[in-house]
Amino acid sequence: MRTFFYMPERMFSTLAQAVSVWLMFAKLVLMVDDQANWIGSEVCDMQPRVAILGAGIAGLAAAAACEIRHISYQLFDPSEAPLVGGAALTLWPNALIALAQLGVLSQPPDWMHFIQQGDVRTDEDASLYALPLAWLERRYGYKPTCVRRVDLAHWLWKSIGKPSICRDGCTAITSRPDGVIVQFASGERERFDGVIAADGIHSVARRQLSGRTERGAHYTAWRGIATTTEIEAATMREYWGPGVRFGYASIHPVAVYWFATLNNHMLPMDEQQWWPKVVERLGAFPREVQTCLGATPAAEILRHAVRDVTPGGPLMRDNLVLVGDAAHAITPNLGLGACLALEDAAALAVCIDGEKPLKVAFQQYAVRRRRRVARIAHLTRGLGTVTQWENAQLSAARNRAIRTVPSGMTHLAWRILLDNESTF
Ligand SMILES: Cc1cc2nc3c(=O)[nH]c(=O)nc-3n(C[C@H](O)[C@H](O)[C@H](O)COP(=O)(O)OP(=O)(O)OC[C@H]3O[C@@H](n4cnc5c(N)ncnc54)[C@H](O)[C@@H]3O)c2cc1C
Repeated sequence: MRTFFYMPERMFSTLAQAVSVWLMFAKLVLMVDDQANWIGSEVCDMQPRVAILGAGIAGLAAAAACEIRHISYQLFDPSEAPLVGGAALTLWPNALIALAQLGVLSQPPDWMHFIQQGDVRTDEDASLYALPLAWLERRYGYKPTCVRRVDLAHWLWKSIGKPSICRDGCTAITSRPDGVIVQFASGERERFDGVIAADGIHSVARRQLSGRTERGAHYTAWRGIATTTEIEAATMREYWGPGVRFGYASIHPVAVYWFATLNNHMLPMDEQQWWPKVVERLGAFPREVQTCLGATPAAEILRHAVRDVTPGGPLMRDNLVLVGDAAHAITPNLGLGACLALEDAAALAVCIDGEKPLKVAFQQYAVRRRRRVARIAHLTRGLGTVTQWENAQLSAARNRAIRTVPSGMTHLAWRILLDNESTF
């Protein structure tokens, strides 16, 4: 049995509380018929009814796409609090353009601060590459930003009228000519006209659609948010050492998001010793690395086995479509995963115009997205391999090449990464 609809201001953990909330909610719906969330998901029976599985960044952005196309939808997520959690996300201009296309970025929110300087350096603090931020702004209209995931998720959710999120997870999906039957963990079985699966890297929907599973990378990532004023504001930077990397980006003047990566074979057998080993390997890195680590509560440091999904698989079948990590989880090099999820939603908004059948709209979406997401998956994985090199000669050659590459070439690389034609 389903327990409750997710309302972040109040969490209800017992059945009794859930029942009382249900009653109250039903009463409210009868009394107030202009509640956007109910109009969005229950009342407009002329519109196709879509289930959005997962209320992470991809699911919420897909909901924004449905909102602007007046498609009725219901969000589902098994998590108690899908809007919270995670650390922070770098949003590159492609993500900001997608947010604007989704109608939620007319005015950047006050917690969004743009990066004004950025570079890549060796672990010995020698300069390798300066980010062309002025060029990015000229070309795309935005500089990158780094935001807390919780801020982005809440803001997206509020921007689309705080839709209800049913606390339930999908366990199986059956496509039928007249729609999609979703089996939920609660035991409920429901029919929808279409399903947008945004259920993350371990997606049940993707496994059913194509059998594609995740694959590992040869390094592990840690990330956290430091509270400090000692790091220069509005800055992003990466340091590359042999088999170990550290990067950071300012969220605002006193909060800095950082990540560290270490090749798996450098980790000791005892998992308890993994983080101390990373700290040891970062010991000789420039002082601001120690500043970030020292200003982060140890309990809040997240560890991730780096994984992606083999690119090139199908993104839809009949009335089921995949978005975000469910469709194309990529390795976190460059921080583009959530950016692609936002692009997906903007592309969906172009395709689901409310006129054509969902199946046709989903086909168009898949055609628009297929090549781009596969290309980024290959590029980010390759970049991870090259930036985690340990061999001194190879690393020196890489560093020489980066220093000497003409800016026209690097601009071309950025255009491949950030130009997104699938939403126009
Ligand atoms: C170390 C690291 C650093 C990163 N840094 C960046 C960055 O700087 N910039 C960037 O753009 N990206 C970054 N990413 C990638 C980014 O975090 C993801 O691409 C993005 O969060 C994916 O969003 P999503 O909504 O697709 O998936 P998720 O955030 O995983 O959300 C999936 C949701 O689906 C729900 N769910 C799970 N199973 C089911 C089910 N069966 N039924 C229904 N719902 C279900 C889950 O509870 C969850 O709420 C990073 C990733 C890592 C690992």
